[in-house]
Amino acid sequence: MTAKIGDDRRAVLDGIKAQVAALHAELTRYSLVAWTAGNVSARVPGEELMVIKPSGVEYDDLGSHNMIVCDLNGKVIDGGYAPSSDTAAHAYVYRHMSHVGGVVHTHSTYASAWAARGEPIPCVLTAMADEFGGSIPIGQFALIGGDDIGKGIVATLSQSRSPAVLMQSHGVFAIGSDAKAAVKAAVMCEDAARTVHTSRLLGDPLPIAQHDIDSLYDRYQNVYGQRSGEQA
Ligand SMILES: [Zn+2]
Repeated sequence: MTAKIGDDRRAVLDGIKAQVAALHAELTRYSLVAWTAGNVSARVPGEELMVIKPSGVEYDDLGSHNMIVCDLNGKVIDGGYAPSSDTAAHAYVYRHMSHVGGVVHTHSTYASAWAARGEPIPCVLTAMADEFGGSIPIGQFALIGGDDIGKGIVATLSQSRSPAVLMQSHGVFAIGSDAKAAVKAAVMCEDAARTVHTSRLLGDPLPIAQHDIDSLYDRYQNVYGQRSGEQA
């Protein structure tokens, strides 16, 4: 199917491009990326389209003018650069998880250190129960290119409440109802990875009982969650 950008959608698209470009500044602000690694994308509501970062453009040079519009097979519809080399993975997620409106990928240090060991981050903090509803899972090793990474992300996140997955020996893919929520999940994933790592250096972190994890998650997502996705 060929998606086409109608003139009536141009303003909406421009707004999403500006948002996706601006959200990349959050990745550097929270020290989640080095050089040009890492990327944010957003689904275009009502269209079979996504907006994603161009490949290899430095963060300081990102703006709405160089964001790339692709269809959900990763084919470029609008943009003067090649899209991110992770475009196929983002597109696969949008094709197979209809509730996902934003995807983020980083090689953030602590989370990738867990990914390098192929070890899920255990849920030993109430903030992890709140955000992730349990441990942050590992997705099986996959080579870049093709659908293998996308398949691993979808297979892992479909069996978890977590909005973030550690792809083994690689890094973090995070999802959200929109791009900002996905960025938040990537930031919180790195924060959890760092804190649990530090706790491991001190000894054995204490587990949280499953019923307490369930209670915390329910409260945060549903009761405390009667807000617009922003933690007060
Ligand atoms: Zn990567």
